[in-house]
Amino acid sequence: MRGVQNSQGLANADPSGAAVLENILGPNALVGVCLLLGLVAVVAVIGVVMARRETRLAARIARSRTHGMSELLRTVRMAESIAELGVWQYDPASGRQQWSKGMRSLFGIDHDDPFVDGDAETLLLASEMGLIDRVTEHRNTREPFEMDFDVLGCDGIARSISVQACNLPNRSGGVSRVVAVLRDVTNQVQRERRLEHSREVALSEAQRARQLAATDPLTGLANRRRVMVALDKAIVQARRHSQPLSLIAFDIDHFKAVNDTFGHLVGDRVLRRLAEIALAQVRESDLVGRVGGEEFVWIVPGADENFTRIMAERLRQAIASGSAVGDSPAVTASVGFAELMQDDTGLTLFARADKALYEAKESGRNRVRMAA
Ligand code: GH3
Ligand code: MG
Ligand code: MG
Repeated sequence: MRGVQNSQGLANADPSGAAVLENILGPNALVGVCLLLGLVAVVAVIGVVMARRETRLAARIARSRTHGMSELLRTVRMAESIAELGVWQYDPASGRQQWSKGMRSLFGIDHDDPFVDGDAETLLLASEMGLIDRVTEHRNTREPFEMDFDVLGCDGIARSISVQACNLPNRSGGVSRVVAVLRDVTNQVQRERRLEHSREVALSEAQRARQLAATDPLTGLANRRRVMVALDKAIVQARRHSQPLSLIAFDIDHFKAVNDTFGHLVGDRVLRRLAEIALAQVRESDLVGRVGGEEFVWIVPGADENFTRIMAERLRQAIASGSAVGDSPAVTASVGFAELMQDDTGLTLFARADKALYEAKESGRNRVRMAA
């Protein structure tokens, strides 16, 4: 027993560590230390194993996340291509832009064409759509905003593009990034434009039909229907504003003889000439209409009998002196007029002016008579 020998002074030139410990701590303590060391070793091994497992687990999670992300990206790209969307990102501080493949397609660039630095700026400039200016106008907007553009693509195809964008704020309240989704709305816009065009055509045709229904085709003057509607309106206005209103009626003298002598076509020309002369006499607020074969009326709002007499006389003279033009023979007209009375309707005012006209005929033609 070397230990016994040592304790007995038989010196060992190279005592083992365990022996030294045994000497210092005694045999029981040595067993304890060994157990402790063993435990430490076991714990260390377990630790290493666990750490490796965790590393493997983390790596697996990272791999699966990366896979998930790339799947998500693939799905987003697929959705982008199915919906024919484009995504544009813009950093206002650096001016850098990111164009998705869909965005390039919207500008008529083939998927496989290389897209190098500077292309984005060049394409935006060439498109003259002013996307960056328009986005900058919305720099204080926190809500998503919309814009519409018409763009001529590199493939020569014009597209209508709808842009929905939003500003991603940075910590200082500015805009760190603008993210925009672009959509080709050409078909929709064309459909809407076609519809709008058809609507405009239909409206103008309806307006034209209304116009035709209210116009005398030979002279272009208001026809009898329109004259009577306008007369009723003028009466309402006159009464509302306590203003006078007069009606002048005039009829070509011996017009039958014109037809008989010169023919119907010349007669028509005389009628058109009469319309021209009358239109040259009237004011903006007045209305002249052809209410029968060769009978016309002139609605004179705001005119009392004195003023109307002057107008009627001026018209009579203008016809007598100005009807002979080219093939049109000179004709005269008889003129009657009436001022609106308290109980008048459109029809009674018309009838009184007409009666005055026939009094002018009776008293020799080519003269003016006022209704009683
Ligand atoms: P008065 O002085 O009494 O008015 O005699 P008038 O001959 O003018 O009147 P009358 O009623 O006897 O004849 C009207 C003529 O107007 C008969 C008709 O042929 C003619 N007339 C009516 N409408 C038109 C038209 O659109 N074109 C032409 N050329 N003649 C028309
Ligand atoms: Mg006549
Ligand atoms: Mg007549």
